[in-house]
Amino acid sequence: MGIMERMRLDGKVSFVTGGARGIGKAIAMAIAEAGSHVAIVDVDIEEAKKTAEEITDLTGVTTIAIKTDVTDQADVDYMIDTILDKFGKLDVAFCNAGICMNIPAEEMTVTEFKKVIDINLTGVFLTSQAAAKVMLKAGKGSIINTASMSGHIVNVPQPQCSYNASKAGVIQLTKSMAIEFAKRGVRVNSISPGYIGTELTLNSPSLKPLIAKWNDMAPLGRMGRPDELQAIAVYLAGDTSDFTTGSDFVIDGAFSCF
Ligand code: NAD
Repeated sequence: MGIMERMRLDGKVSFVTGGARGIGKAIAMAIAEAGSHVAIVDVDIEEAKKTAEEITDLTGVTTIAIKTDVTDQADVDYMIDTILDKFGKLDVAFCNAGICMNIPAEEMTVTEFKKVIDINLTGVFLTSQAAAKVMLKAGKGSIINTASMSGHIVNVPQPQCSYNASKAGVIQLTKSMAIEFAKRGVRVNSISPGYIGTELTLNSPSLKPLIAKWNDMAPLGRMGRPDELQAIAVYLAGDTSDFTTGSDFVIDGAFSCF
């Protein structure tokens, strides 16, 4: 079988948190095009339903939308139960939901700090742990967490200490779980995007004014697009990446190289 055929995901079952829009939506679309059924998991259930319908219309795979706050254990349990009721298994988990706050460290309240850590780090822990419990029983599975180049560098000029700390945490959480699960068939990797044009960046009042500066600083002279993360997502979800675990893939157009 050729490499393109071996990269297909026909018959697999995946979930994508934060799948309603942005990077999560692009990932969900890509793995559906490759043949995986997909659960679109998001706090924004209306947008999640629209995305799920759009994906089924375009690809023909079965999709469901599940309202889940990734910081809430009961919601995460409900998400897993719903997926197992509908599909009977879980092969791939994209733990992608995240937010950003740009507040100077000396002004940030503990409530604000904890909110970012709760969604970006604890949310990834809860959803990847829940996925891992199902996958470890089955003896196989692939978990992919969305980290960020901000887990590697302190990208300026915006002040985002909680975001940077949360994403560095995701990278180490990923590696820790990868080691714990390695001999039991479950792989855990992360993707660290650079600046990507989504709601999070293009429509954030604090970040939008910085876009021209980021483009100036970027070696490629521009931000990335969500579709430029699709191929790595399909690769990590599928069986051709069986020797790949505990890895973080920086896709940032060389932004973090200097
Ligand atoms: P986005 O704001 O466009 O989409 C995020 C999605 O997550 C939304 O649909 C939102 O409803 C959902 N969400 C937020 N909080 C949630 C919660 N508690 N539970 C469930 N769903 C929740 O953002 P994006 O740019 O697509 O970002 C996706 C991921 O990529 C995030 O983890 C982000 O930190 C990371 N990232 C983004 C960039 C970028 O430049 N856009 C760069 C690096 C990393």
